[in-house]
Amino acid sequence: MPLRRATAVTAVAALGLVTLVPGAPAQAADTYGPTARGYGGAVATVDPTATAVGIEVLRRGGNAVDAAIAAAATLGVTEPFSAGIGGGGFFVYYDARTRKVQTIDGRESGPASMTKDWFIDPADSQPYDFPEARVSGLSVGTPGTLATWESAARKWGTKSLGSLLQPAARVAENGFPVDPTFRQQVTDNAAVFGQFESSSDIYLPGGVPPAVGSTQRNPDLAATYRLIARQGTGVFYRGAVARDIVRTVQDPPVADDPIGEWAYPIRGANMRLSDLANYRLRTPAPTRSGYRGLTVYGMSTPSSGGTAVGEALNIIERTDLSSASRVQALHQYLEASALSFADRNRYVGAYTPQWKLDRLISDGWARQRACQIDPAHALTKPVPPGDITASGCTPAPVGGPVEEGQSTTNLTVSDKWGNVVEYTLTIEQTGGSGIVVPGRGFLLNNELTDFNFTGTQGDAPDPNLPGPGKRPRSSMSPTIVLKDGKPFLALGSPGGATIITTVLQVLVNRIDLGMTLPQAMAAPRASQRNSAGIQAEPAFHTQYGPELEALGHTFGPDVPELGAATAIEFGRNGRVIASSEPARRGSGAAAVEFPN
Ligand code: GLU
Repeated sequence: MPLRRATAVTAVAALGLVTLVPGAPAQAADTYGPTARGYGGAVATVDPTATAVGIEVLRRGGNAVDAAIAAAATLGVTEPFSAGIGGGGFFVYYDARTRKVQTIDGRESGPASMTKDWFIDPADSQPYDFPEARVSGLSVGTPGTLATWESAARKWGTKSLGSLLQPAARVAENGFPVDPTFRQQVTDNAAVFGQFESSSDIYLPGGVPPAVGSTQRNPDLAATYRLIARQGTGVFYRGAVARDIVRTVQDPPVADDPIGEWAYPIRGANMRLSDLANYRLRTPAPTRSGYRGLTVYGMSTPSSGGTAVGEALNIIERTDLSSASRVQALHQYLEASALSFADRNRYVGAYTPQWKLDRLISDGWARQRACQIDPAHALTKPVPPGDITASGCTPAPVGGPVEEGQSTTNLTVSDKWGNVVEYTLTIEQTGGSGIVVPGRGFLLNNELTDFNFTGTQGDAPDPNLPGPGKRPRSSMSPTIVLKDGKPFLALGSPGGATIITTVLQVLVNRIDLGMTLPQAMAAPRASQRNSAGIQAEPAFHTQYGPELEALGHTFGPDVPELGAATAIEFGRNGRVIASSEPARRGSGAAAVEFPN
């Protein structure tokens, strides 16, 4: 992607970063392409400026946690529609010294006043339309991202959060070049941002999306980062920023003279200062499952990512794919994914008891589910969930829903000491709720729309209905795979519920189908989330459609792209491959500390 590369060099030069590394200017353009090979630490993100910041922290002696935080803070500036301090996420960390994988659950939580019928319109007892719920105070959960950075820096980092926010503050102040992805994301959100002066002032200069190549600045966000650097995160959770967030959620700052039309009333919601003050991170044990001799660690609830990926892998593992055709391998992948999604929808939410989660990623459960897969015929979708209390090949009677999504960002960072961070963070939809907190420069999330608005499981209870202080179910799947107790692969992706299938497909591509990591990332994707039609990228549909249709699979309408993954693979003698998307979402940026 020539434009992205030019952007990388410009951004890095603007930061004054390349000059710090002898001989770097000639290297920089190549270093921030989608794939980088070499030694030492590595960074893979969707954005060249964030990658540049991350690699610079590593070169100055920071560890993977320091670099991940600095890069994530930069993504809050350059990818503000996907991530930032107005949102939440899941941080997974492998510590080389203790050889343990630990997690931080920085998911947004619902206000204490949240009730089961939060998304039901009292006027007609019907659920709100999605855009009406999204662009409102109702969708905004208490953000967990800043608390995540602080906690990770304290526990595992070597630098203060304040110092790690500085590069991002500089990018926000000096600006960065608008690329086609950024412009497109503003264009898609123009009607939403146009309703709020705080949003349109930053993202619709002169009333229109910024031109490609123009310099995008956000001085308010620079000031907010610096305020937090000086005063600590208390200012965000209990001080002046907290007051601004609460005011914005209670009474969204709708412009007197909006730009463009919005079809819905814009509602406030009952978030209080105590919701922010009482926000707490969780540190659940990671999910853990075996796959062909490897150990796969993922994110536990409230994300469904760890159990859904783990269950599907366990099901796929029942079949020896080494001698299977490519189409048969994809058939197994699609069927396992559908079965896993049926179970996820039925059983997984913020409060799922541990015994159920353990059961879902057990080999016994995989046997019970895999027995339904016929190598010669696709199952009719949606498939019913399994009965978790029964044994044998017996599905329960009711199917589950289909979910969509496309926002979020993911980054993968490692250091020369062998520590690894896999971090997915989001503000939910691209553009979140669309509401920038006035004077503070960041968008508020709409994460609470990840709850089901009404029950989806027939007579069975729905694990993902709203509740007081509850966290909505996520699909984010930051994943670290160990081989003989040491990192082999770390990966994750955005993409709503397709995150699970993207992570799964890259793993199967790499582990079972003989692809290198860059090939596994580039290969065309398809997602079967237990709906009638497979959602596929056009290249996948063209290449495999006829043979999969002959097995009874059906395809829904194609989608231009699925996911925007990042990954790092760890080879022998300290070799690393950092990998990001070669084309999707405008291509990503990977770098290693000591390139080959
Ligand atoms: N809110 C979604 C989740 O947590 C992620 C949003 C997206 O990637 O589109 O699963």
